[in-house]
Amino acid sequence: MVDTSRDFFNYSYSELVELLERDFGATKFRATQLFEWVYRKGVTDFDQMTNISRELREKLAAFFTFPKARIHDRRVSSDGTRKYLFEVEGGDLVESVMIKQPNRMTLCVSSQVGCAMGCKFCRTGTMGLKRSLSTSEILRQVNGVIEDARNFGDSFQNIVFMGMGEPLHNFDGVTRAVRNLTDRFGYGMSPRKVTVSTVGLVPAIRRLASSDVSVSLAVSLNATTDEVRSKVMPINERFNIEELLAAVKDFPVGPRKKVTMEYVMLGGLNDTEDDMRRLARLMRGLPVKVNLIPYNDNAGLGFNTPARDWVFTWQRYLNSQGLQAFIRWSKGADIAAACGQLATESKKVSRFPVVDQAAA
Ligand code: SF4
Repeated sequence: MVDTSRDFFNYSYSELVELLERDFGATKFRATQLFEWVYRKGVTDFDQMTNISRELREKLAAFFTFPKARIHDRRVSSDGTRKYLFEVEGGDLVESVMIKQPNRMTLCVSSQVGCAMGCKFCRTGTMGLKRSLSTSEILRQVNGVIEDARNFGDSFQNIVFMGMGEPLHNFDGVTRAVRNLTDRFGYGMSPRKVTVSTVGLVPAIRRLASSDVSVSLAVSLNATTDEVRSKVMPINERFNIEELLAAVKDFPVGPRKKVTMEYVMLGGLNDTEDDMRRLARLMRGLPVKVNLIPYNDNAGLGFNTPARDWVFTWQRYLNSQGLQAFIRWSKGADIAAACGQLATESKKVSRFPVVDQAAA
């Protein structure tokens, strides 16, 4: 049994302050230094933390562990996107994807092993939930990619929780990871650059809204009627479109910020002209922008890819209705890292990593 209380990556800044004061007689400033060494400088060797006294370093070294991300596999796409297969506790495998974009990279991380939500266009949905990842296991994906990115001379600017699993179904693990990603002594990322995507767990969206965690929100809508949405997303039977959009409306977004509504276009199923018009009506008055994600039929789940021109027609129409709409073409198709395609032969798949590519 792993002693997670010694795992540094499971601690938030305030918890670390408390631990150091209580068990090590150290000041808050030491917690700040530790966080900066580990998250800002990537240093986990106490011998290198020379601004901390040797005596304290020895005590801390005897207590803390810094589990490493174990890269089980890594594939590089011809478009520059990289798919990582990480081994986490117990030998489970989860995927992270570094998505190559014109001027930046986005890291897509997993939050669970498997998923309980059963979305029909995503193979993870057919596999059920094995377990949620700990905060440390989530951050280890981030650390592992940061380290490996040095081999490619790049780094990511955004993080999206859109890999395997439903992030808000692992509320504590994910929000604690978000805290460390956005803590000014931690990774120091802007909350605008960290996005949690949900299938539409309405109570969890409301819980997130009333918490002190600051993060961007994306919601998978994927249909304009309850009938079609329930067919492809069983969660709609519990929280229908009306309830979901009410939660989106109430979600606190800062100035110039919006909730991202994701719409996977499943050719012939949810992409009719009526759907297009209904979507514009449903979005009216909401603080949202829309990401259109043409389904990638390489995922082999029996859905169709919409015609390219039709996707542009949707975008133009939504724009004409005053909505910001972007097209997210899949990336990394040749390494099975594209939308709905994140499958490992043995264990699982994950959701569609979005591609931040605003189409004209
Ligand atoms: S799309 Fe996301 S929430 Fe739905 S089954 Fe796949 S991983 Fe789970």
